[in-house]
Amino acid sequence: MKNVIFIAPPAAGKGTQSSKLETLGFYHISTGDMLREEIATGSALGDEINKLISQGDLVGDEIVFELISNKIKSLDKPFILDGFPRTMNQVKMLNNLFEELNINNYEVIYLDIELEDALKRTLGRLTCKCGASYNLYNDEFKPKVEGICDKCGSQLQKRNDDNENSFRVRFDNYIKNTAPIIEYYNNIGKLHKIDTKLSNDEITDKIKEILND
Ligand code: AMP
Repeated sequence: MKNVIFIAPPAAGKGTQSSKLETLGFYHISTGDMLREEIATGSALGDEINKLISQGDLVGDEIVFELISNKIKSLDKPFILDGFPRTMNQVKMLNNLFEELNINNYEVIYLDIELEDALKRTLGRLTCKCGASYNLYNDEFKPKVEGICDKCGSQLQKRNDDNENSFRVRFDNYIKNTAPIIEYYNNIGKLHKIDTKLSNDEITDKIKEILND
């Protein structure tokens, strides 16, 4: 099976699609989740990361690269990279790692979403510590019981960067840093663009087609 790199603005549905692909045997590597785990340990590094994330800023390339490279090296199944690379420097780091590990069977999936749609999804998003994600503004993604996770029964939380100010900084960062990445992967024939106006099942079907080609 091929490996997947997801590129998309905040709240485009990378997490949702990744969870669906996990059931097909992929390992989901989410840099956002890994960084939030570091924050949860209460370490000094976690505090530093927390400040950057809550302002909507990017965490340093080296810190994030170390997390994903250790993980990729330890895996014995195909992976979904969700949240990396986010800068051209990260693309270079990833290319070097792929070269070192002899990885060339991957496709880049670009989930295209308009700013206003992404903002609405961000403001309605609730997450659970078990990894599940919900949305108050979409009937398909509302929890069955208000504020409670359908999967594990825990209290749902709002991410502290899911507010309008932080969203706008993250979206600006995305445009600034990620646009050249999209162009780069397009130029080397790896990019597949999918419109997020499609339903989630249609998006999953398109991804499966891309990976089976
Ligand atoms: P996400 O869960 O993917 O939306 O990521 C949440 C936040 O974690 C981002 O807004 C960044 O602050 C940080 N982050 C995640 N991935 C990266 C990355 N590859 N490089 C730098 N910062 C990252």
